[in-house]
Amino acid sequence: MTIMKVVIVGCTHAGTAAANQILSAHPETEVTIYERNDNVSFLSCGIALYLGGEVKDPQGLFYSSPDALTKLGARVCMQHDVTEIDAVNKQIKVTDLVTGESKSDSYDKLIVTTGSWPVIPPIEGIDGKHVYLCKNYDHAKKLFEHAKKAQRIVVIGGGYIGVELVEAYNKKGHDVTLIDGLPRMLSKYFDHEYTDRLATDFADQGVKLALDRTVTSFEDTDDGVTVHTSNGDYDAEMAILCIGFRPNTDLFKGLVAMNRDGSIKTNDYMQTSNPDIFGAGDAVAVHYNPTHKDAYIPLATNAVRQGTLVGINIFEPTVKYMGTQSSSGLKLYDQTLVSSGMTLEHALSEGFDADSVTIEDNYRPEFMPSTTPVLMTLVWDKKTRKILGAQLMSRHDVSQSANLISVCIQNENTIDFLAFVDMLFQPQFDRPFNYLNLLGQAAVAKANQN
Ligand SMILES: Cc1cc2nc3c(=O)[nH]c(=O)nc-3n(C[C@H](O)[C@H](O)[C@H](O)COP(=O)(O)OP(=O)(O)OC[C@H]3O[C@@H](n4cnc5c(N)ncnc54)[C@H](O)[C@@H]3O)c2cc1C
Repeated sequence: MTIMKVVIVGCTHAGTAAANQILSAHPETEVTIYERNDNVSFLSCGIALYLGGEVKDPQGLFYSSPDALTKLGARVCMQHDVTEIDAVNKQIKVTDLVTGESKSDSYDKLIVTTGSWPVIPPIEGIDGKHVYLCKNYDHAKKLFEHAKKAQRIVVIGGGYIGVELVEAYNKKGHDVTLIDGLPRMLSKYFDHEYTDRLATDFADQGVKLALDRTVTSFEDTDDGVTVHTSNGDYDAEMAILCIGFRPNTDLFKGLVAMNRDGSIKTNDYMQTSNPDIFGAGDAVAVHYNPTHKDAYIPLATNAVRQGTLVGINIFEPTVKYMGTQSSSGLKLYDQTLVSSGMTLEHALSEGFDADSVTIEDNYRPEFMPSTTPVLMTLVWDKKTRKILGAQLMSRHDVSQSANLISVCIQNENTIDFLAFVDMLFQPQFDRPFNYLNLLGQAAVAKANQN
């Protein structure tokens, strides 16, 4: 039997998932992992929870380790940077970041799980010592330590990472300002009914919202930084950049087909345009089911699924990647906010003849000792009546409802389907028609009027 030699470049979620899958199903495989950090599998989603004090020990944010992967049979090379790939001869160059030594290695199959890196625009002063990034464990430690001496913190970027940091630092008693270039935070995921309520919650908690203005420069001061914007200056001890991520794929330029944004294209089996190179996670594009197009959606949900699929398909194309709806969720000041698929604005910009409906209803009967309203929106294609997206917000935990909508979009279900699909009823949990049935019915009523 010939033993396959696999090299994995990068080992956070996608790389760890691929290694686990390969070595548990095919332990004879020779797997070498190169990772430039000194840790694997760090859950960045826990950074805000750590900064806000909900997670006490950041060591709990790792679910694997170099030792665990070694025990599974991998050769694990931590603090090793892969610097060159020769895809013709299947050779790579690696630098040991501790000794500075340069080495070569070879592979039969290469797995690209190099992930993403924060977007750092060329703004004057952005490399100043009071401007921070938020991506990995090193960043988390700095954000935690340096915040001990910071009273004023400016977060730049009102996407899901930025707003989570704002809430975390605000809960810890810091004076927090959120700057964003758009007039609404989270506008990619939620309509204004949702973000207006969130803005009220933020303001009630003392968060300063500095929206609709762009950062023009950072200037070091005696004790911190001044963030200059197109509409006002903000002094702080820390400024944190949360304006998005880009694929970390420069190493593979010219070797595999990429989209314009630098994300690597893969087929259904996570194979790149080079049959011996597979890719997964933030380094690659996802298949976005609502549009059936490639999209760049860096999420751990995609990384663990794609990494596992690489681990299966590297031996033989077996299990197809089924794409994503980009379902995601947030909990901010006791409000659960979840979404799956597109907002109406997004759907229209993609050329859909789409419509949406928004309703608010209690999740369970009023005769119960308590109940809670749920704000919900459904977006659909007017021609096919297929569901394209949904948003929900409530102080009740409605997170699993986004998962149901995700399945509906994946299966191309219609608003008519959602209106009557069978769901359990028990007054503890819901009404005879679940609130999602009611949302479907509201959509059907609106669609039938037109
Ligand atoms: C603050 C924060 C909160 C988040 N919250 C959520 C959430 O709640 N839910 C969700 O689904 N997603 C969330 N995400 C996104 C999620 O963390 C990423 O999608 C996920 O980390 C992607 O995993 P990955 O393995 O593809 O890439 P990455 O995590 O980017 O890891 C890539 C690895 O490759 C290594 N590497 C890169 N180049 C080289 C090289 N040349 N040589 C050696 N090693 C290399 C890097 O050091 C890194 O360890 C969050 C992200 C952040 C930053």
